Amino acid sequence: MAKQTKKFKTETKKLLDMMINSIYTHKEIFLRELVSNASDAIDKRHYLSLTNTNIPNADYEIKVEFDKDNRTITITDNGVGMTLEELENNLGTIAKSGSKEFLEAVEKENTPDVDIIGQFGVGFYSAFMVAKTVVVETKSVTDNTSHKFTSEGLESYTVEDSDYNEYGSKITLYLRDNTEDNNYDEFLDEYKIKDLVKKYSDYVRYPIKTWVTKYDPKSDDDKDSEPKTHLELETINSMLPIWKKNKSEVTDEELNNFYKNKFMDYQDPFATINVNVEGMLTYNALLFIPKKPFYDFYGDRNEKGLQLYTKGVFILDKCKELIPDYLRFVKGLVDSADLPLNISREMLQEDKAIKKIAVNVEKKILAELSRILKNDREKYEQFFKDYGLNLKFGIYENYGEKKDSLKDLIILKRYTEDKLVTFNEYVEKMKEDQKYIYYAIGKDKDSVDKLPQMDLIKSKGYDVLILSDDVDEFMLHAIKDYNEKEFKSVNQDDLGLIDEEEAKKIDELKEEKKDFLKEFKEALPNVKDVTLSKKLVDSPCCITADGGLSFEMERVLKAQNQDVKADRILELNPNHKLFTKLEALANVDKDEFKKLANILYVEALLQEGILPDDPKAFNDSITELLLK
Ligand code: ADP
Repeated sequence: MAKQTKKFKTETKKLLDMMINSIYTHKEIFLRELVSNASDAIDKRHYLSLTNTNIPNADYEIKVEFDKDNRTITITDNGVGMTLEELENNLGTIAKSGSKEFLEAVEKENTPDVDIIGQFGVGFYSAFMVAKTVVVETKSVTDNTSHKFTSEGLESYTVEDSDYNEYGSKITLYLRDNTEDNNYDEFLDEYKIKDLVKKYSDYVRYPIKTWVTKYDPKSDDDKDSEPKTHLELETINSMLPIWKKNKSEVTDEELNNFYKNKFMDYQDPFATINVNVEGMLTYNALLFIPKKPFYDFYGDRNEKGLQLYTKGVFILDKCKELIPDYLRFVKGLVDSADLPLNISREMLQEDKAIKKIAVNVEKKILAELSRILKNDREKYEQFFKDYGLNLKFGIYENYGEKKDSLKDLIILKRYTEDKLVTFNEYVEKMKEDQKYIYYAIGKDKDSVDKLPQMDLIKSKGYDVLILSDDVDEFMLHAIKDYNEKEFKSVNQDDLGLIDEEEAKKIDELKEEKKDFLKEFKEALPNVKDVTLSKKLVDSPCCITADGGLSFEMERVLKAQNQDVKADRILELNPNHKLFTKLEALANVDKDEFKKLANILYVEALLQEGILPDDPKAFNDSITELLLK
């Protein structure tokens, strides 16, 4: 066959233009793409050899070589090769969907975004990012013919017969001339090639070989002379990734070393989770929880995500679709046989396989944490100190969803003992007559102990969860109840603590003191209501929040610049001396009553850690009182 010149299709030409003019900095991915094509080609030959006796199998390998003098890089595989028709169909037109999508994305964006190339597997054409001429010599195992394809990536390419006599394909890249910004010679380097193969193609199933410099042993005579070297063809990739090995064949030490090397930690991980799933969806996941949060964990630049591989080929460093926000501290990777190499970021978001894997990854992590909680409480509590906040946010952020397995992983301080407690442990130890799970806001037992609202709860001997993180109460609101026991803040007006008869008595008294309570409320413009308390024993009064918003939530939201205010209810203890005193005063000296009512209100606020709206007025009335 005489040499033929053919024009590229319009689409292909566009893509080539993009590659040639690309200012993308990760031009090195060309090697990943070509090696991956080579590996696919070997897969195909191997498959054919199993089904067709005319097609021989072989010792499969991929060779990456370079020639400094001619400035070429060659990638050779002994895979299926291509027939003339295949050469034209596969390389003369855009065959793959990834490239098409890539073009569409670029057109949508109008200008080629620098980063956009990296998000797509752009296959064969990525060679033109580094090469001015690409030559493909190939011999097909299906029809035994050899052909040569040559292109400068411009308007056209040529195809012709060739005497290439090895099954498979040999792709030669003639590197572009160096420019001020781009030194293509960097690829003509043994170490660079080794590096790139390790980085992107370490787990390709076939050996990837390159020429490696070896030092000759020195004889006694030439001790002082320059060391002599020779080149040896050596396999660079490890082929079988640690996560693909049978679990029983991998030691903890191997896993720990792998983790430390790969994720640059100096400590062994807190936990390692090895997942192998085969079936409709086949994948492996290797997940690690670092012993301590990484130094940039709370920084803005910290991106969550797991590394994504498909069939051992590295695709993406941080695939955020694989891990929920609240587990952002988990490091690791997923390798699936069911994802295309050219999967784009947009596709990842929609990809059903990715979604399924993510659900399972989350499940496995929670199951492992639950196992540690059960078997090694001390270790778990240490973990919770470092990462507990994330789990709490997980519950809050997934309002109404996913709460079940997560809520059992929460541990909180408790009032009756200096120990952390799960919801389940709390409920198991509830007194028989206890209806609710009580909680109070405070940094520790002492601060909660001082709350007047605790009077009756203490007298009943009930336990109280102590919430000390900002997110805690929001989290409980999201959970709503545990084992059908509702959560109740000690700040809520009705704690359900007194029996019906007593409650009725107080309600009757409330009716009786209606006018006095009304007067009290009028004296306090910032209060929604003044009522008689059903929970105070020794204290004269307390303040509670009405409706869904608590004082703690008010504080947290205010800190986020939200203008909110919880409704304040002042509860009075009708059995307290002060109550009788104020009632008497209201009848004789309205002004004095008003002043004292306000002091009492501020007292109740301060008890809650809330500053008075008008501190100056409060100070003035205290001074006046002192002067009396
Ligand atoms: P993709 O590999 O994603 O399909 P490419 O643009 O990289 O897209 O390659 C297009 C096609 O060219 C491949 O699908 C394959 O059929 C063929 N091809 C590329 N490289 C080789 C090779 N080394 N051996 C055999 N066929 C190849």
